[in-house]
Amino acid sequence: MTARYGIIGYPLGHTMSPVLHNWGFGQFGLDARYEAWPLEPEGLSAFIERVRTDDIRGVSVTIPHKRTVMEFLDRITDRAKAVGAVNTLYWDGGELCGENTDVIGLVAPLRKLARPASALVLGAGGAARAAVAGLLELGIGDVAVANRTASKADSLAQDFNVRAIPWENRMDHAPGLICNTTPLGMAGAMEDRTPWDADRFPAGCIAYDIVYNPLETRFLREAREAGCATVSGLEMFLHQGLAQFALWTRLNMDEECARVLLLDALAGKRS
Ligand code: NAP
Repeated sequence: MTARYGIIGYPLGHTMSPVLHNWGFGQFGLDARYEAWPLEPEGLSAFIERVRTDDIRGVSVTIPHKRTVMEFLDRITDRAKAVGAVNTLYWDGGELCGENTDVIGLVAPLRKLARPASALVLGAGGAARAAVAGLLELGIGDVAVANRTASKADSLAQDFNVRAIPWENRMDHAPGLICNTTPLGMAGAMEDRTPWDADRFPAGCIAYDIVYNPLETRFLREAREAGCATVSGLEMFLHQGLAQFALWTRLNMDEECARVLLLDALAGKRS
């Protein structure tokens, strides 16, 4: 029987996850299919029952279910507990488990670069929590967070025992890594915007934008022009997906081929 996988979220906008996972199943000749399952919040409990009874082998979880799904699971990894959110359901023996591969995905491209001594995370939403958890997992000693709404930065900083910096003063600091987790720069109404002034990038810093559409946001373009190393959100997306696939199948997709696949998908060559 064809093994079933999918993504839940609501509203479930366009996602590249089916392209990635279905391609991976094809590469390994697996009889499996990954689908998009829009799911309203009221349907979550019944859906998890279906996962248990209908032999669904793995699920990607996105907004608004990342936190609420946790109460329905048998086990949650320490990483997902630290973030307070799950983006992946997988089976371990008979137990339905929750992991957060956004953290793994965020950290993976940074492991290829020299580790910065300090980092500043811009934003304090769900992605920022994954970013702070990942940067701490990477061993960065000095992590700070700045957010437009100060109370949210304070609360995140308290949860992770890191520093909160007023949004207005964010550019007075010279971190080794600046990680944008706000939607500033995203295709559409936000595309022309950036959370950082072009002439304020610290020398030698790494600029990381978790937005991946466009591939090079204004923030990344200006950082590159200022001589900084840059990391696109596509790397995070790619690696969170590779980690999901490995949890589900114990197989590793070819990273470079998967990257090309996603670049094509982003350019509209696949859907
Ligand atoms: P979220 O929980 O809604 O948080 C959004 C954050 O951005 C909040 O801190 C918010 O500040 C801030 N923000 C929104 N508009 C702003 C503005 N005009 N100026 C300054 N700050 C602003 O969203 P999320 O789940 O963290 O996701 C954030 C982004 O990450 C999205 O673009 C999402 O697509 C992307 N993402 C990418 C990946 C990947 O794999 N690359 C994975 C997950 C998420 P306030 O608190 O003041 O509202």
